[in-house]
Amino acid sequence: MHASVTAFMERIKARNPHEPEFLQAVQEVADTIIPFTEVHPKYRKFKILERIAEPERVIMFRVPWLNDQGEVEINRGFRIQMNSAIGPYKGGLRFHSSVNLNILKFLAFEQVFKNSLTGLSMGGGKGGADFDPKGKSDNEIMKFCQSFMTELYRHVGADIDVPAGDIGVGAREVGYLFGQYKRIRGEFTGVLTGKGQDWGGSLIRPEATGYGVVYFALDMLATRGESLKGKTVLISGSGNVAQYTVEKCISEGAKVVTMSDSEGFIYDPNGIDQEKLIYIQELKEGNRGRIKEYAQKYGCAFYPGERPWKIKADIAFPNATQNELDEQDAKTLLANGCICVAEGANMPCTPQAILAFSQAKILYAPGKASNAGGVAVSGLEMSQNSQRYSWSREEVDAKLQQIMKRIHSICVKYGTEKDGYINYEKGANIGGFVKVADAMLAQGIV
Ligand code: NAP
Repeated sequence: MHASVTAFMERIKARNPHEPEFLQAVQEVADTIIPFTEVHPKYRKFKILERIAEPERVIMFRVPWLNDQGEVEINRGFRIQMNSAIGPYKGGLRFHSSVNLNILKFLAFEQVFKNSLTGLSMGGGKGGADFDPKGKSDNEIMKFCQSFMTELYRHVGADIDVPAGDIGVGAREVGYLFGQYKRIRGEFTGVLTGKGQDWGGSLIRPEATGYGVVYFALDMLATRGESLKGKTVLISGSGNVAQYTVEKCISEGAKVVTMSDSEGFIYDPNGIDQEKLIYIQELKEGNRGRIKEYAQKYGCAFYPGERPWKIKADIAFPNATQNELDEQDAKTLLANGCICVAEGANMPCTPQAILAFSQAKILYAPGKASNAGGVAVSGLEMSQNSQRYSWSREEVDAKLQQIMKRIHSICVKYGTEKDGYINYEKGANIGGFVKVADAMLAQGIV
């Protein structure tokens, strides 16, 4: 490893012990940004990357609520306000039992680069709670969301910090959070994105991350004269991002053969068609069903406790969660002829898996580039809210496609190696960094 990267990481590790995912995310960025700053010394002199790796503010709070048995439950809520150099903090809320400071700091750090890549004016943030909505009644979810917002409202606002959904936070949760914010503040403003479409939400927002990752994959494939037509595709996850990735893959003529959840994956060699996808969407509505029920209904295989990467396919979209695709999985995918991996989830591939993909010179896109469609349409939702106006489905979809193309071209600009190989990871890191770094330089030491 580059000596100055090692020295930088030693300082970050000393300040953030016991935060492995955060350190993993910073290391992945430092590997490409530190060498870049050595040829652009103004960024080093003003310690831009050191400052980006330190949250502007961390808010941590108690979330007490009453369950359906009348018992008191206590969760821990967080909001990480990571960087506001180019706009109000923006990033989702995650409700999952694995949520802690480390996980949210990694997500907030990634979000800074991702939001910059969209070209829209959005800083980076992330939040959530160690609350698991699975198995909870609607009443319990509402009480939890109301208690969470009763503290969070002090720290957010349409021009300050605009949260959205993530794992465990969908339209239902955003609705309850928004209702409580409106009640406490007495104002109807665009404080959250992912709202219902009759009350300020943008068309295409639910679809945006999944559609966006497919648009990005199409641009990558086009650099090699390829498309999705006739390709066999592996998808992990069965939530929001996974579902709309499946939908777009189907419309592009690909055959999707797997989906998963935390209990295992289904393998349907005939492919998941539109009708089967509707079944999955109904099954997963409000987190009520499990993916194994698909295997029972359609008579296909279910692999308990396993991930889909051992199935032979051309393209993989890891769309569930962090570190779900490791070095061994990467080698299996490569041995089976996989030509493209595009991340719908945040940091789903381990560093060793990414190294294997880049050594094999296949197409690999990091989530901060390929899954930016969700936050991009959230940015468009903010614009529509400010204008008190809404765009048609076609208008939003066209803007989403333009934004994904823009991100792709930034990755090509900053990531093309001497031999012509496009290192999307390097391109996304540098492309995302430059805009934020220049804004920080212009704004002084703050
Ligand atoms: P979601 O609707 O809650 O779905 C999450 C899916 O991932 C579920 O199928 C879930 O299975 C699975 N999953 C979660 N934790 C898992 C674990 N530890 N092991 C195996 N499977 C697991 O969430 P989502 O919005 O689709 O988000 C999925 C990923 O995309 C996350 O990394 C998120 O940060 C990223 N992302 C989302 C957006 C967005 O707009 N929503 C935008 C950019 C990036 P269970 O139901 O069994 O937990």
